[in-house]
Amino acid sequence: MQVLESIAAFRQARRAMTGSVGFVPTMGYLHEGHMELARRARAANDHVVASIFVNPAQFGPHEDFAAYPRDPDRDLAMLKKEGVDAVFLPPLAEMYPPGACTFVNVEGLSQKLEGASRPGHFRGVATVVAKLFNIVQPTRAYFGQKDAQQVVIIQKMAADLDFPLEIVVCPTVREPDGLAMSSRNVYLSPAERKGAAVLYRSLCLAQEMSQQGERRANVIRQAMTRLIEAEPRARLDYISLAHPQTLDELDTLEGRTLVSLAVFFGKTRLIDNVVLGE
Ligand code: AMP
Repeated sequence: MQVLESIAAFRQARRAMTGSVGFVPTMGYLHEGHMELARRARAANDHVVASIFVNPAQFGPHEDFAAYPRDPDRDLAMLKKEGVDAVFLPPLAEMYPPGACTFVNVEGLSQKLEGASRPGHFRGVATVVAKLFNIVQPTRAYFGQKDAQQVVIIQKMAADLDFPLEIVVCPTVREPDGLAMSSRNVYLSPAERKGAAVLYRSLCLAQEMSQQGERRANVIRQAMTRLIEAEPRARLDYISLAHPQTLDELDTLEGRTLVSLAVFFGKTRLIDNVVLGE
């Protein structure tokens, strides 16, 4: 497995890859969710590239950029085991040299849901993903449904900016109690970790209510809110029932509905989602 730290070195390695290239962009501190993306990329492509880059542009000024967990040696060992061919591991100045001032903004979609709670987040995400697409030039790029809004925004960016690649969306990988795997789960104290299962429990409640015929978004939102508020360490940020493509809030459920939420446990902010009507 090649590990390339500069854009020039990566481009050189890329030129030697013939056939299809599957790409898995990550911020490192890898877990089974990331590994699942790598496995799917391995199964469908001649070559697999992963990137590890904690992207400062997608963190707000009071968020956890400095504290974000990092362990590149462990990450590289995991990627090697999955049969990844090359890892792009750039230092900060390689991606954002002094004076870099061009950003990608997927308007409208970026301001909703996560974007309302985290202004500028998706501008940072879209910018770094566009740069990575230009550097890696993948045939297919793999993203997790765990970050549902990110998927919608990247798909729109790729279409609007004519990136010649396919976006592949992979299901959310969960812990046995339903908690979605996340690099940020390491921040949780044992009591918070136990309570964090409430996110998925509340999404399952939404699923049950909709299966039993409930169509009123506010009734489902209220039931989910009660469940989360009953969890001592949880502090609800938002619950959304939205159209899965436009991300517009729905009053009445018709067809597919993206149910998503963000919940704080202490300083740790967790997100999760399910799609109803699939
Ligand atoms: P991150 O390193 O958190 O930026 O995530 C890199 C990629 O892995 C993104 O496409 C995420 O959506 C995806 N991912 C993160 N957690 C999970 C999970 N639990 N299941 C599936 N995909 C995930």
